[in-house]
This record gives sequence, structure tokens and C-alpha cells, in this order.
Amino acid sequence: MSYVELPSDVQGQSYIRCSALAAGFLWLPDREVFQDSLDLDTNIGSKVPSLCFLLQHEQHGKLLFDLGLRKHALGYPPAMEDDLKLFAAECESDICDLLSQGGTQPTEIRTIIYSHLHFDHTGDLSPFPSAHLILGEHSKQLLASAYPINPKSRLNSIPSTQTVSYIEFTDQDSQSLSFGASVLDFFNDGSLYLLDAPGHMLGHLNALVRVAPNSFVLLAGDACHNRACYNPGVRLVSTENHHDIHVARETVDRIKRFHALDNVVVILSHERERLHEMPMFPLMLNDWAVQETDRKRQRSK
Ligand SMILES: [Zn+2]
Repeated sequence: MSYVELPSDVQGQSYIRCSALAAGFLWLPDREVFQDSLDLDTNIGSKVPSLCFLLQHEQHGKLLFDLGLRKHALGYPPAMEDDLKLFAAECESDICDLLSQGGTQPTEIRTIIYSHLHFDHTGDLSPFPSAHLILGEHSKQLLASAYPINPKSRLNSIPSTQTVSYIEFTDQDSQSLSFGASVLDFFNDGSLYLLDAPGHMLGHLNALVRVAPNSFVLLAGDACHNRACYNPGVRLVSTENHHDIHVARETVDRIKRFHALDNVVVILSHERERLHEMPMFPLMLNDWAVQETDRKRQRSK
């Protein structure tokens, strides 16, 4: 039941090889996740991974979508102390450890895309001094007063030596894809689209990755934090965890419409079920995603 066609494969189409990595874990109280759980104590919730993705493009090399947590959850601004406890942040093996276990060195990473600037996505940039950092345009205003410029900020500053680009969806390069989502065709070859996904935090981005003919994964970041919010989508996202709840819920509605497409597999950054469903790095998830889309097509027949 394909409502809207995503851009078709073209002749000589490039695909992205995609691998998932769990760079740390968090305790997510239900009241931070579901509107129906606002009255619950913070000890009711679930332990979730912070998923990151290694994307490999034949011509453009290796990219990371998010870096997860910092190793042992150390090196965050002092203002993060309470949150680190509330979320029981733990990271035995950070993204660099995981990559090197799979034979990939940080120096091979050419580009890092941050879905957004929350601590469980931004990790540690210091092993990636030559990687070009990509952020949503509205992240810029948050970074203007990051730690230590503002000693009370919960966000670490970006090292001044890091090269950074901010994606502006008002650019003439950006287009409107399906369901009014503003997108940017990142390599101009239909292999990787960055999507404006506002509401959770300023500058929040998603990535739509073409992994095989007529098959995509949507890396949906923190648009929502639990599968039940988009599949079947009956539980509303919590007011506790979103910068603009109305816009955040519109973004989740869009995720639901992507999920309704039979050629898209949605993966949230904290979707704990995916840890056991999909192959993890150093394996690639491309074949699994194709099987998932096949299953969706079978179900919709
Ligand atoms: Zn977040």
C-alpha cells in the first residue's frame, strides 16, 4: 500500500551500505516517552540503546549518522550531572571502540551528521578532527551559547578546528519530498536524503537512506523514542521531551506515513527492539532491510 512514491532508482543508481552500532545505553522513563505516562514515576521505563549508523558510499566514502554517548559518560558539561543520573547513561564501548573492533578507523570517517545536539547523540568529536560535521541550521543558535561559553549550558561546544555545515531547508537545493517533508538530496544522486524533522530539538534531522533497489531505511533519530508512537502509532509522544510538542507530533505523523510505505523501514535512535531484529556492525543491515520491505509487501497484499 504505497501512498506516495519516493524517487525511483535511476540508471546506475548509487546505494548506501548501512551498519548500525549501539554506542551506549540509557534508562528512558516512560513519562519522557509517552503522554499517557506523565504521572508515572521515573523508575518505570526501559533501557534503550543509543543507535548510530555507519553509512558507506562508493564515491563519497564513510559517514556516521550520530556518535552516541561519550565513553563512560564522561566529559559532559557540569549542568548535565542530574540528567546523566536520571538517564543512567552508560557507555562501555564508544563509537570509536566499536568501529575499531570492526576494522574501521576514525580517520576513515569523512562526514559526521548529527541528528541533533542532545548528549546521547553527539559523543566525542575529538577522534574525528578531519571529519566534516553536518547539522540542521537551527542547531547554530544552540551552539552560540554552548558550554563553556555558557557555563550553565548542557551542550558541549564544537571544537573550533572542526569544519561544519548547516543544512538550510529553505535553500533552493532543498525540495519537498513526500508528505510535505523538506529534504536535501545530500550527494545529488538520490542515495541519501536529509530531512527536516522539527519539534524534538532545534535543528533535528532525519536521514532517508537508499539501501537497495526500491528500498530505504529512515533513520528517524528522536522524532519519537518508542516504536508504539509510530507503529501502530496509537501512543502520543510526551510533552516532557520535545522542544515544540505540536510540531513534534506533526513530525511523528510524517514518520507514520513513511512507515505506511512498503519500501521504507523506520529505525529510531532508541528503538530497543531493533537491537535484536537487525544485524549490527560490522554486519550491514541492507539485506535485512530488503527482507523487512518484502515482509511489508506480503502483509499489504
Ligand atoms: Zn534527543
